[in-house]
Amino acid sequence: MKLLERARPEIAALQPYASARMEAGAASIMLNANESPWPGADVAFALNRYPDPQPAALRAALAKLYAVAPEQVLIGRGSDEAIDLLVRAFCTAGRDAVAIAPPTFGMYAVAARIQGAAVIEVPLGPAFELDTDALLDALTDATKLIFVCTPNNPTGNLVPMPAIRRLSDALRDHALLVVDEAYLEFAEGAPSAASLLRKHDNIAVLRTLSKAHALAGARVGAFIAAAPVVELLRHIQAPYPLPQPSVDAALAALSAAALAKTDTRTATLRGERERLARALSAAPYVREVFVSAANFLCVRFRDARAAYRRLLACGIVVRDVSRYRALENCLRISVGSAQQNAALLDALARSEIAA
Ligand SMILES: *Cc1c(COP(=O)(O)O)cnc(C)c1O
Repeated sequence: MKLLERARPEIAALQPYASARMEAGAASIMLNANESPWPGADVAFALNRYPDPQPAALRAALAKLYAVAPEQVLIGRGSDEAIDLLVRAFCTAGRDAVAIAPPTFGMYAVAARIQGAAVIEVPLGPAFELDTDALLDALTDATKLIFVCTPNNPTGNLVPMPAIRRLSDALRDHALLVVDEAYLEFAEGAPSAASLLRKHDNIAVLRTLSKAHALAGARVGAFIAAAPVVELLRHIQAPYPLPQPSVDAALAALSAAALAKTDTRTATLRGERERLARALSAAPYVREVFVSAANFLCVRFRDARAAYRRLLACGIVVRDVSRYRALENCLRISVGSAQQNAALLDALARSEIAA
């Protein structure tokens, strides 16, 4: 695969660490990993064995959920780990670069800077649309990764599939287009870029169980890409990336019954999002509510700092994104339960009267 020549040669050539767990999965007497023969002294369930690095059952369940093949899935410690692995695998410090389209998720630039990679910033347009022409113009020979977030955090808008296809075509063999779909479940009917993998092998997709599947505390994410790219990241992933309780929690969350419940809850949140957006749009203290396909709203207030402080005084914390490019006076508000959203509106309305 030609794109792999764009990875760091020393990483591509690296012999991955072979863990004891990988060499012999489950014999009846396991004396190869210096584990305790007993479960912990005071635990409800046994954790004395090292976990499977990539549990086949979880990989199969995630592959089914995202409609790809198991070998196209790398399970990791949330999407955050995949972002870190990507920049470490592709970017040589002091030489290579990643491209991002701000305002967007902060981890891409943080991971790049930790690795010593340059960050090329191509701002989103006035309606937060991806400027594909400007993005392509800005790319250098040293650009290895392009991060696109859809729905975008913190603005909430979707990136249309034709833009993703066009970028992928233009980057072929030159750079990996990483499409972060952390919130795609909330964008009703929106297709995943994973559906393009067959024809576009330089696309990678980040999915996570942290948002719609309510497992942020378990730290489970799926990196989806062509099998050789998945294999490359395994060269540098920690030997035992997935704690067993997290694997068990993820498997439970992917049962048919749990998935049906998640679908219902996701639909409920979408309804709450629209209700909250309408209420906020009509409020005198709000300038603008941006259209969102995610489980949050990006809201421009007349005075974001005052709104933030008043909410905090009522015990409600939201995310101040006003320091982001083009988001002056904006707060990012996660859509909560009907009761929480009502409390938010109430707190804002009451402080308006007080003001
Ligand atoms: C929340 C979020 C993630 C998920 O990160 P995890 O490490 O999987 O919890 C990824 N990308 C974006 C844009 C997010 O907002």
